[in-house]
Amino acid sequence: MMDILDRAFPVDPSDLLPPVSPDTAVFWEGLAKGRLQVQVCDSCSKSRFPVAPVCPHCGATGWQWRALSERGQVHSWVRYRRSFLPEFADVMPYVVACVEFPEGVRMFGWLVDAPKDGAVEIGAAVRAEAERWPDGRCVVRFRLAKLL
Ligand SMILES: [Zn+2]
Repeated sequence: MMDILDRAFPVDPSDLLPPVSPDTAVFWEGLAKGRLQVQVCDSCSKSRFPVAPVCPHCGATGWQWRALSERGQVHSWVRYRRSFLPEFADVMPYVVACVEFPEGVRMFGWLVDAPKDGAVEIGAAVRAEAERWPDGRCVVRFRLAKLL
């Protein structure tokens, strides 16, 4: 289970979230409970994200939901130095990371403890956590994993 953290926003960003569809409801409901899940194809067994009704690898339409590792590695990243939306003005500058999971899927999310300047190491270990937004839905964000 991922940690779920509430965050206060200067402006409610909830209308920025994509709509919930019958296909994506399980993903969103899982996140709200701290579960990170992706679809796994019934035919080729490959994981996929974002949620899609057809496997991008083999074209099959059957799938199961499966828990995803909550740890991944930074595949790429970008630092935003200008706030295009007032909802995120309180965290400037911020880094959005593309994180690759061992299951082969990638997700984008805020890397909350990235340095304000300087590079983020490609391949850095991160762990996923859920951030609860004002309307109760959660989004995935990442934190650099501490080596023990
Ligand atoms: Zn497939």
